[in-house]
Amino acid sequence: MDDRQFRTAMGKFATGVTVITTELDGDVHGMTANAFMSVSLDPKLVVISIGEKAKILNKIKEGKIFSVNILAADQQELSMIFAGQIKEPREVVFDRLDGKPVLAGACAQVACEVSTEHVEGDHTLFIGKVTDIHLEEKEPLVFVNGKYRALAGIS
Ligand code: FAD
Ligand code: NAD
Repeated sequence: MDDRQFRTAMGKFATGVTVITTELDGDVHGMTANAFMSVSLDPKLVVISIGEKAKILNKIKEGKIFSVNILAADQQELSMIFAGQIKEPREVVFDRLDGKPVLAGACAQVACEVSTEHVEGDHTLFIGKVTDIHLEEKEPLVFVNGKYRALAGIS
């Protein structure tokens, strides 16, 4: 099985889009990620999966905190910025939730402390203990078949 076939298959699974944000020594860093899942209600846990080459990996390992920003349909540009799909540097203003950096205008901001981490293949899974949540009434951005989409109503 080649990598393209695997990615094409995984791309059939429609997801939302998040930007994972973290901070180390006063430096805020973000990365676009769709490998995100709710894990447990009691205690409240989520999981993210970060590739071994991502610069954010060591920042989360050392800082032991991250936020998951579930992007709204009008935030595709932010997804592209934090995936390196827009090359020119852009200034992004970060808000704070429970002291952790978050993106204004996201559908949901989920602040987490790292509970455990597991290296699996070429990614590290971080289990995050949720410390605070902020919600906004907005439609989510969708990613499927390698493309951004917005939800369409079913009539
Ligand atoms: P960099 O390449 O340094 O950062 C990424 C971009 O964010 C750079 O352009 C940088 O300028 C910008 N940036 C970072 N911090 C700031 C800041 N403070 N202010 C302004 N700009 C900033 N990879 C995974 O490992 N797991 C996933 O689940 C995942 N899902 C993805 C889902 C989608 C829809 C897409 C498009 C990509 C996904 N990726 C995922 C790939 C990942 O987003 C890219 O490989 C990313 O470029 C790696 O980021 P990095 O940490 O190496 O940091
Ligand atoms: P794509 O066709 O590469 O991605 C489709 C799906 O394949 C993704 O939703 C994800 O589920 C899976 N996938 C892709 N790359 C992966 C990886 N390195 N490890 C594990 N799963 C992976 O879509 P695209 O538009 O070409 O993606 C843009 C870039 O973002 C690519 O470089 C891609 O590798 C990267 N990406 C990485 C991940 C990840 O690391 N988990 C997830 C999505 C996209």
